[in-house]
Amino acid sequence: MDYTNYAVDNILSLCKMPSPTGFTHDICKHIAALLSEMGFEPTFSRKGSLSACLGGEGDHLVLAAHVDTLGLMVRSVKSNGCLRFTHLGGFPANNVEQENVTVHTRDGKTYTGTVYLNEPAVHVNRDQGGTKRSDESMEIVLDEIVKSREDTLALGISGGDFVSLDPRSILTPSGFIKSRHLDDKASAGILLALAKEIADGKLIPKRKISILFTTYEEVGHGASSGFADDTVEMISVDMGAIGDDLETDEYKVSICAKDSGGPYNYEVTTALVNLAKELKLDYAVDIYPFYGSDVGAALRAGHDIKHALIGPGVFASHGYERTHTKAIDNTLKLLRAYIVK
Ligand SMILES: [Zn+2]
Repeated sequence: MDYTNYAVDNILSLCKMPSPTGFTHDICKHIAALLSEMGFEPTFSRKGSLSACLGGEGDHLVLAAHVDTLGLMVRSVKSNGCLRFTHLGGFPANNVEQENVTVHTRDGKTYTGTVYLNEPAVHVNRDQGGTKRSDESMEIVLDEIVKSREDTLALGISGGDFVSLDPRSILTPSGFIKSRHLDDKASAGILLALAKEIADGKLIPKRKISILFTTYEEVGHGASSGFADDTVEMISVDMGAIGDDLETDEYKVSICAKDSGGPYNYEVTTALVNLAKELKLDYAVDIYPFYGSDVGAALRAGHDIKHALIGPGVFASHGYERTHTKAIDNTLKLLRAYIVK
C-alpha cells in the first residue's frame, strides 16, 4: 500500500465532513471506526477528543492533530428571513464571502445557503467593492422560500445553530490538494496513514506512541486535556504557515521553532531538524508570527511535557487553502523516522 496515497484519500474525505469547532461528533465517530477497523481501541475524552494508543514501549509520545475547523454559527434570524452569523475561530469575514454553507439545526435538519454582502448586486450597490465586510454587513441567504423571520423560524432554524462552509475539496492531476480546512485535516489524514502502517505491521515504533485528535483547537483549548498522564512528549502535527519571509512552501514539511507561544522544546525540535537533514527531506525551519498550536494549550493547562510542532506547508491558511501531496509525503516521512528512531 502507498501510505501517502492513503493519507491523501483520508484528507479528502475528512475535509468533506462538516466539523466546525464544537460540532465534531460525527467526524470523530468516523475516525474512531477507522481506528477500530485497524485493530486499535480508540477512546473519547469527556469533551470529545479522540485518542488511540498505537503500541510500543518507553517514553510516551503523543502525536496530535485537530479535526475541528473554522465555521459560523447563527447569531440571529433577521426580519428578512436571512441569518446573521458569528464566527467560529479566527478569520476575516472576506474569507467566507459568496461561500456556500450548510446550516445544521439542533434537531438534525440541514439547510443550504450562501454568505452574501447585505446588498450584493453591483447593479444596485455602488459601493459594493468598498463596503467593509463584517457580520453586520453580510448575511446568510437560505436556499428556501423565506421572506420573513417567521418563515425561517418555522423551518426550525434558530440562533446557536452551527454553520459549516463548503470545503470545495479538489485533488488536481498535478498533486495539489485545494480545500478549506486542510488546517488541520491534512495532518489528521497523515496520522491515520501512520496508524495504518503500524496496524499493517510495516512500521514498528521504538517507543510508546498515541495519536490524539482534538476538537477545540481553533478556539484555543484543544489539547488542554484528553491524553494519558504518562505522556512525556507531544508533537502537534498542524499546518506549516506560508508567507512573507518564511521558508515553508506547499511541498515541504515545516518544523516550527517558535510561534506566538514562544520557542518549542530545544531537544525535540533539534532532533526533528537533524532527522529531516539526515533523510534529505524537503523541509523548512520557520517561525510563525501569528500562530498558536494545540501543544501550547497543553502546556498552558499545566502539563509537564516536551513539545514540538511540525506539519505540511499550507498556503492561504484559514481561507481556501492549498497544499501538495509532496508536503504530505515529507511530513509522513519525518514522523515515520522519528517514531522508529
Ligand atoms: Zn490548525
